[in-house]
Amino acid sequence: MIKKVKNIAVLTSGGDAPGMNAAIRSVVRACSYYNLNCFGVYKGYEGLINGEIEPLNARSVRNIINRGGTFLKSARSKAFRTVEGRQKAHDNLKKHNIDALIVIGGDGSFTGALKLSKEFDFPVVGIPGTIDNDINGTDYTIGYDTALNTVVEAIDKIRDTASSHNRLFLIEVMGRDAGDIALNAGIGAGAEEILIPEEDLGVERLLDSLKRSKVSGKTSSIVVVAEGDKSGKNIFELGEYIEEHLQGYEIRVSVLGHIQRGGAPSCYDRVLASKLGVGAVEALMDGKREIMVGIVHKTVTQVPLTTALEKRIHKHDQLIKVADITSV
Ligand code: ATP
Repeated sequence: MIKKVKNIAVLTSGGDAPGMNAAIRSVVRACSYYNLNCFGVYKGYEGLINGEIEPLNARSVRNIINRGGTFLKSARSKAFRTVEGRQKAHDNLKKHNIDALIVIGGDGSFTGALKLSKEFDFPVVGIPGTIDNDINGTDYTIGYDTALNTVVEAIDKIRDTASSHNRLFLIEVMGRDAGDIALNAGIGAGAEEILIPEEDLGVERLLDSLKRSKVSGKTSSIVVVAEGDKSGKNIFELGEYIEEHLQGYEIRVSVLGHIQRGGAPSCYDRVLASKLGVGAVEALMDGKREIMVGIVHKTVTQVPLTTALEKRIHKHDQLIKVADITSV
C-alpha cells in the first residue's frame, strides 16, 4: 500500500527561470490548503546534501509571485551526481521526516530526481521550470513565456538602432537544443532570418536570403541566432563571414545572455506556475510518483519522468513557414 504523504519538500534546481517563485508559492499554499507540512530546500540538491531545509508556511511565500529568480535559490550540484551525495540528501530528507520531494527545474534536475527515487524508493514529482521550453510532455515550461517577452523587447530596441544606421544585427538568444525562443521571438520581433538548433538551414542560404532582402529594398536587418544553431560557426565568426560576403551592411553582434532569465514573470508564467504547483501536490496526495506535471492544451497533465526525459519531438515546420512568409 502506498504511504500517505504528509510532509512535502520543494526545491528549485538548475538554471533559474522567472515564475519559479510563483511555483514554490503554489506548492506551499496547496500544502497549507490540504493540511500538509511543507519544507523549503535552499540551493537545490546542494542544499539538500548540506541539510539546508526549513519549514515554510503560507505566509513565508507572501510577496513573491511577482518576483523573478527563486527565493529558495538554485544551484548546480556536482555532489548530487554521486551515489554518496544522493545518500546524504536522502538521509537529510529522512531526518526531517519528509515523505516526498517536488523538484522544479529542467531535464538535468529530473534525471537527478529519478535517481533519488529509484535508489531510495523516495517519491518525487517534477515541475518543468526552464526558459528553454525543451522538456518533453508539456506544451510550455515555467519561464519560457517571460523570456520570450524579454527577448522581443530587447530586439525591438536593437531594431531602432539597426534602422538608424543600415546595420545588420546578429542577435544570439538562449536555446542550446531547442529553437523555441529564437523562432517565436524572431517572428514576434520581425526578424529577417532565424537560425535554430533543430534545422540546418545553411550559411549560404542565409547569405542568399539577406542578399534578396537587400535587393527588395531592406536597409537594415535582424537575424536571430539560437545558441545551439547548426551553422558550425559561433555568432562572431558568422558575423565576420557575412561581412566578407555581403556588401552594404555594417554587421553588429549582440549576445543577449542572462537578461533572458531575469525580470518579473509574465502573467502567463505566474498562472502556469500556480497550476503546476497545485497539480504537483495533488499528484503526490493521489499516490503518484516519478511523474512530471505539465500543461497540454491548457490542461494540467501527468507524464512519467522517463517520458519527460525523452527527446522532445517538436515540429517547427509551421513556424518556419510563417517566418519565411512574413520576412519577404
Ligand atoms: P536547465 O535546463 O535550466 O539547465 P537543468 O535542470 O537541466 O536546468 P542541470 O544543471 O542540467 O540543469 O541539472 C541540475 C542539477 O541536477 C545538477 O547540478 C545535478 O545536481 C543534477 N543532475 C543533473 N544530471 C544528473 C545526473 N545524471 N545524475 C544525478 N544528478 C544530476
